[in-house]
Amino acid sequence: METDLARAWLRAAAAAIEVNRDHLTRLDSAIGDADHGTNMHRGFTAVLQALDGYPAATAGDVLIRAGGTLISRVGGASGPLYGTALRTAGKRLTGERPDPAGLAAALADGLAAVCRLGSAQVGDKTMVDAFAPAVDALRASADAGEDLGTAARAAAEAAEAGLRATAPLQARRGRASYLGERSIGHEDPGAASTALLFRALADAAA
Ligand code: ADP
Ligand code: MG
Ligand code: MG
Repeated sequence: METDLARAWLRAAAAAIEVNRDHLTRLDSAIGDADHGTNMHRGFTAVLQALDGYPAATAGDVLIRAGGTLISRVGGASGPLYGTALRTAGKRLTGERPDPAGLAAALADGLAAVCRLGSAQVGDKTMVDAFAPAVDALRASADAGEDLGTAARAAAEAAEAGLRATAPLQARRGRASYLGERSIGHEDPGAASTALLFRALADAAA
């Protein structure tokens, strides 16, 4: 992943979050505190500002800077979680020009950091339920020798399927878990934003 692609990814992500801000907040109003769209919008607006004119030498520098910005600028749980994911992935991309396999490895590290920080695993009805299948699909596509655009498209489709699969689950982490069985029947807001992030990667890599 080159610096330009990393920047294009974050720009596409910011645009998608802006368009879907109210949708993300509506999802969070059903099973959380109705701020996920606002949190993500504030965070990614700050990310674009932080990257404007920032002399990043590598894609890793871009992701580390973006991650640090999300950690410091987003008050909700999603800021530190996404920020940690991007910083961790970015550390693995510094000084490299990775192929799809390298990006899959970096994002797998980011996912592992999210699971550790959030004590979350697949099935807990969180962003991990979209993130994990996306990383799996990216890796499978990379192993099959597909190019980055194809791999990122497979990852986006897997993230979107993971998002839909959160609806029947009962939340075990985050605010939604306070609702117990009443969290069943709603898509998870963080899984929805993760699906947007992977779709933005696919668009940027196309
Ligand atoms: P907050 O819950 O603090 O208001 P947001 O609304 O911005 O933060 O983000 C909520 C999303 O964060 C949830 O939908 C879920 O996907 C994710 N999340 C919350 N807690 C955790 C956790 N412990 N591990 C993984 N993801 C989590
Ligand atoms: Mg919230
Ligand atoms: Mg909140």
